[in-house]
Amino acid sequence: MEYQATIGLEIHIELKTRTKMFCSCKNDPDEKHPNINICPICTAQPGTLPVINKEAIRKTIKSGLALNCQIASHSFFERKNYFYPDLPKGYQISQYSTPLCAI
Ligand SMILES: [Zn+2]
Repeated sequence: MEYQATIGLEIHIELKTRTKMFCSCKNDPDEKHPNINICPICTAQPGTLPVINKEAIRKTIKSGLALNCQIASHSFFERKNYFYPDLPKGYQISQYSTPLCAI
């Protein structure tokens, strides 16, 4: 039996935005103290909903254009539920079926 390797890449980018992707907490990857830049939204407290960061969307589209990507005219985020020890909220907000930028 022969197998054909299929290799997928998951590529992440860290945008230099003033606030986080889904709340107004300061985006400071150099913060040395734990639990400083957090709020009920980014800790997924019951009753909270994420709000998209327009600056991040603008920079994502700008990056996509620089990489010659197709920019979607319509896109949305999905909630991917799974257990992971360092993910106490139990889900990740992701783009699966309609990414903003694609090749
Ligand atoms: Zn927050």
